[in-house]
Amino acid sequence: MKTWFAIPLWQRVIAALVLGVIVGFLWGPGAESIKIIGDIFIAFIKMLVVPLIFFSLVAGVAAIGDLRKLGAVGWRAMLLFVVSGQIAVWLGLLLGTVIQPGIGVDTSMIDLGATPEPNSTDWREMLLGIVPASPVQVMADVNVLPLIVFSLLLGIGILMAEGEGTPVQKIFDSGAVVMQKVTMVVMELTPFGVFALMAWVAGTLGLDALIALSKLVALNYIGCLLIIFVLYSAMVKFLAKLPVRDFFRGIVDAMAVSYSTASSNATLPVTLRCAERNLGVSNSVAAFVISLGATINMNGTAMYLGLATLFGAQIFGVELSWAQYGLIALLGTLGAIGAAGIPGAGLIMMALVFGAVGVPLETIAFVAGVDRIMDMMRTTTNVSGDAAVALTVASMTGELDREEMISADDV
Ligand code: ASP
Repeated sequence: MKTWFAIPLWQRVIAALVLGVIVGFLWGPGAESIKIIGDIFIAFIKMLVVPLIFFSLVAGVAAIGDLRKLGAVGWRAMLLFVVSGQIAVWLGLLLGTVIQPGIGVDTSMIDLGATPEPNSTDWREMLLGIVPASPVQVMADVNVLPLIVFSLLLGIGILMAEGEGTPVQKIFDSGAVVMQKVTMVVMELTPFGVFALMAWVAGTLGLDALIALSKLVALNYIGCLLIIFVLYSAMVKFLAKLPVRDFFRGIVDAMAVSYSTASSNATLPVTLRCAERNLGVSNSVAAFVISLGATINMNGTAMYLGLATLFGAQIFGVELSWAQYGLIALLGTLGAIGAAGIPGAGLIMMALVFGAVGVPLETIAFVAGVDRIMDMMRTTTNVSGDAAVALTVASMTGELDREEMISADDV
């Protein structure tokens, strides 16, 4: 038992992945019989969706502290979060459309129990669909979009109530921490779920499926690297007007920690330290932008949600209209905002986007086996994005100590 937990989770997951593939190939279609272990893992993940979004989003908005404080720093940070999120999700859609990683897999053997009906693309119905008419119903139906709306409003309500909102805020702060612990417990099931799912994929769908998954992983890496090295470099060079090389030197520690932990939250202290000590961002801007960013600024996740939705549509032959692309872009950004900065959060959010455009939820089982490897890169992208926005906002608002930034050479 002790030896088991002494091995880092990600190493156990990778080992399970390799073992699952080998067992699947040796066992063949019979491996279907252990898929139930993977299904249980995914059911546990789905269990987390509502409470995780609810607590983490309300706590995130309330953490802004004061509506007036949103001012100069707040609107710039929010604008950069939203615009970069949109660019990211469209990049995922572009990569998925051009390369088509999911084409060529024969999925006729998969029993599609729960294919969701696509949401209507009539704008009146879409608009009405995001109003949380009954918050309790919304939670019971795991209807994520109106849940996000309700959570945002609740967070704003706490801010407006000022001091009187504090007890409620504390409940959400502590709820968010507790839910993160619950998620950590569920994540301990990952090696078993991954083993069973990979054995099932390799055994029933064979090599074609593995090739498709490898393409998905490769595209996830390409997309993330483009975001980090093109989008963030452009942000630092043109908006912050600072040397790109020093930016990357300054955040190397945060990148390494985020890659190995797959958690923006766990990396938060390191990101803060890098931003303040190596980049020279003032304490108040760093604390505000990076803490908020760890919860809501997830460009790697947004890109992945776009890409994975197309992947699911391709393997199951779901036709998507342009209006549905638009819906994916919207939900991908919102899903990234709603995702908590913990391992596997992006996987949890897939249900939100898939459900809305009629992509079978079985896709989640299909990709869950390789999610961790992609998650590590997504998280590095998310964390680098928090640092890039903090630096840019600090530079724009005169909250940057350039001496510190230049001394990043000695890091
Ligand atoms: N693990 C990621 C993060 O913490 C979120 C995700 O799963 O995409 O930033």
